[in-house]
Amino acid sequence: MFSHNKRLQYTVRVSETNPGLANLMLEQFGGPQGELAAACRYFTQAIGEDDAGRKDLLYDIATEELSHLEVIGTIVAMLNKGAKGRLAEGVEEAGDLYRSITGAGNDSHLTQVLYGGGPPLTNSAGVPWTAAYIDTIGEPTADLRSNIAAEARAKIVYERLINLTDDPGVKEALGFLMTREIAHQKSFEKALYAIEPNFPPGKLPGDPRFTSVYFNMSRGDMDLRGPWNQGEAWDFVADPVEASPVDGGTGRPSVGLADAEANVLERMALRTQSDPASNPVTGAELGRDDKSGKAGQAASVEPQGTVKDK
Ligand code: MN
Ligand code: MN
Repeated sequence: MFSHNKRLQYTVRVSETNPGLANLMLEQFGGPQGELAAACRYFTQAIGEDDAGRKDLLYDIATEELSHLEVIGTIVAMLNKGAKGRLAEGVEEAGDLYRSITGAGNDSHLTQVLYGGGPPLTNSAGVPWTAAYIDTIGEPTADLRSNIAAEARAKIVYERLINLTDDPGVKEALGFLMTREIAHQKSFEKALYAIEPNFPPGKLPGDPRFTSVYFNMSRGDMDLRGPWNQGEAWDFVADPVEASPVDGGTGRPSVGLADAEANVLERMALRTQSDPASNPVTGAELGRDDKSGKAGQAASVEPQGTVKDK
């Protein structure tokens, strides 16, 4: 069950209203790296999890993310407060009011007019939140890796938002939210390594002929070697074209077909067969006015002129 505590997890102190900044903050409210996406990601993983430790961890972090959603949403609402009142009560001339909600040069007028200054579940460009932001696959060694990456991305978006404001109260609250994503990343990483073995993800082992092979597929001036493709851990294939097909087969695809299937495919192939000897005049060539086209009647004009010059 859920219950709600009226106190925020971190106190929001906004110095002055700023609808443009409010709109940028929406990125962490209803954006792909935002708090709703994080809460839903971990909440659904928690429900499906059978390991008692991970289930507890996922519920704890999911619920904290909802608390973060409340903090970032409150920042948005506070930053919109001034414009909200002015717009709702119509206390200014239309032109002044218009400038006050569009002055920041972003879509803050949309937030004001369509959502009345409250935080909508959109990203900072007005794109509605979608469950497609969540990539849970239901296998902890894969999901924990994805959660670690999601926390890393959330941390980076907070870092960029912090760099966009000099409001000390907003900076401070964003700093808290950013810091918590670091702590979550650490928990998820510990939880991943608490599963042994955790690599490769899942149960089936890889084919040992290919698990430690590095194919040098991009050829040209710069081939930089490092621990990702050299040393004892790797078999480096310098010329993958020469080495392919890597299974020792012909590299040509095959499929077993019933006679009836093969017959209709052959009929289709005959019907759509191309004639390499044909040289049809195209609509583009017919439209040319330089008379130099090699195909069509217009081609006969130029050779006559050439003869006269001699
Ligand atoms: Mn968070
Ligand atoms: Mn987090």
